[in-house]
Amino acid sequence: MTPLIDPFGRAITYLRVSVTDRCDLRCIYCMSERMRFLPRNELLTIEELDLLCAAFIKRGVRRLRFTGGEPLVRRGFLDLLNSVKRHLGAGLDEITVTTNGVQLAAFAAPLFAAGVRRVNVSVDSLDRETFKHITRRDRLLEVLEGIDAAERAGLKVKINTVALKRDNAHEIPDLIKWAHGRGFDLTLIETMPLGEIDEDRTDQFLSLATVREDLASYWRLSDLPDRTGGPARYVRVEESGGRLGFITPLSHNFCEACSRVRVTCTGRLYLCLGHETSVDLREALRADGCEGAMDAALDAAIMLRPKGHDFHMDRLRTPATVRHMSVTGG
Ligand code: SAM
Ligand code: SF4
Repeated sequence: MTPLIDPFGRAITYLRVSVTDRCDLRCIYCMSERMRFLPRNELLTIEELDLLCAAFIKRGVRRLRFTGGEPLVRRGFLDLLNSVKRHLGAGLDEITVTTNGVQLAAFAAPLFAAGVRRVNVSVDSLDRETFKHITRRDRLLEVLEGIDAAERAGLKVKINTVALKRDNAHEIPDLIKWAHGRGFDLTLIETMPLGEIDEDRTDQFLSLATVREDLASYWRLSDLPDRTGGPARYVRVEESGGRLGFITPLSHNFCEACSRVRVTCTGRLYLCLGHETSVDLREALRADGCEGAMDAALDAAIMLRPKGHDFHMDRLRTPATVRHMSVTGG
């Protein structure tokens, strides 16, 4: 096995795979109400997604996260997981899923049976009206039922919350108390300039440096050394005993230790979330000698990996990339 090492000496051990760009919510920071989705025939098939995962695992990927769009709306998603499961303990350490939780009540037990032990669930508000405003859908109750079902099924739950100046800034302490009260880590995310949406992102951008300062005025936050190979920095909230993560691409650069790459639902490999540099893996996946073709494509791709992302505040108005997070996979 030859590991994938980029020109800056970083090994790729973590892969995020977007299995669909479709979604049953329309979060205001992620996509427009009238989001145009890709024609279905452009998506990788379940078999191709399976081959893709195998090719990366063979080259040293130890952690796989499935995302989207909303992964639970992809037909055949459980078949994919049940196949990828064969790599667990044979190169692969973990399979995780990021979901909006809307369909989690039905999926929790099958996910566990397919080898998933941890899920990230996005919850931007616990208030039904605010949730409906942010996601443009009235589905908070289903999400909460999904989280209960996940716990019952034995899945470890982490909550993701995008910090929005206008819509949920005031609710952040309550969200943290709720999550920690239930034994869940919570990670706050700054809005990133990815893809056209209906509004101006600068209106909603909330610096997590400010949020942290505010929280630290009434809670004791102790820095934790925990790193997940990704952009989150963690603290322990001493009052609740829970872990709180901050993903701050704009106010803090996280690239130096980044071990992750992403593949879109059409088979395009993005070597950095904030760069357009990409390689189409579809041809290699469909080649007769797929294994050799994938190895060659990955060897060539890894040399293109940039040193770091290119997000800046002044880019909030004009997206740094034209891709939506729902296409690349958040
Ligand atoms: N649909 C699933 C969900 O919402 O968890 C998985 C895909 S979603 C793109 C993954 C994560 O990206 C979510 O936590 C979402 O809140 C976040 N996200 C989407 N667009 C974003 C943006 N422009 N800036 C920051 N985070 C974003
Ligand atoms: Fe869907 Fe997730 Fe984007 Fe919200 S953040 S619209 S749930 S893909």
